Amino acid sequence: MNIKKGDNVLVIAGKEKGKVGKVLQTSPKTGKVTVESINMVTKHKKPKSQQDKGGIIKKVAPMEASNVMVVCPNCGKATRISHKEVDGKKVRICKKCGASLDKEHVKTVKKEAKKAEKAEKTAKKAENTQKTDAKVETKATEEKAVKTAPKKSKTTSQGK
Ligand SMILES: [Zn+2]
Repeated sequence: MNIKKGDNVLVIAGKEKGKVGKVLQTSPKTGKVTVESINMVTKHKKPKSQQDKGGIIKKVAPMEASNVMVVCPNCGKATRISHKEVDGKKVRICKKCGASLDKEHVKTVKKEAKKAEKAEKTAKKAENTQKTDAKVETKATEEKAVKTAPKKSKTTSQGK
């Protein structure tokens, strides 16, 4: 089973289709998962004693694990899962964005993504400044670079 306790899942089949909830429990033996506030059933309980008066009880019932899809905490999409080994540990990977779905790794992935985003922004900013400051000069340099080095030179990463 690819679903673990604490995952957010999207229901893709059955009467609760389209709902999203948190996995409270998984039972690999039966292939079922219990999802918070999804697949509620009402049970009519008979009174057993004076303290236990019975009545109607709402309860979450387990549902087929194949009816739900894990929602990736990184990209927020319901995704299929692939597996990857990181530091000798098997982790579940989002097929859409490549982020790990296992909590101990999610944090580091998020941090790295943020760092990359920041670096990209800084690079873009530098690029823009370069363009406005010396349009002609940049062009000339690029032309030169093309002549001297056929492979694209790293002019964009300058200005760190
Ligand atoms: Zn993802």
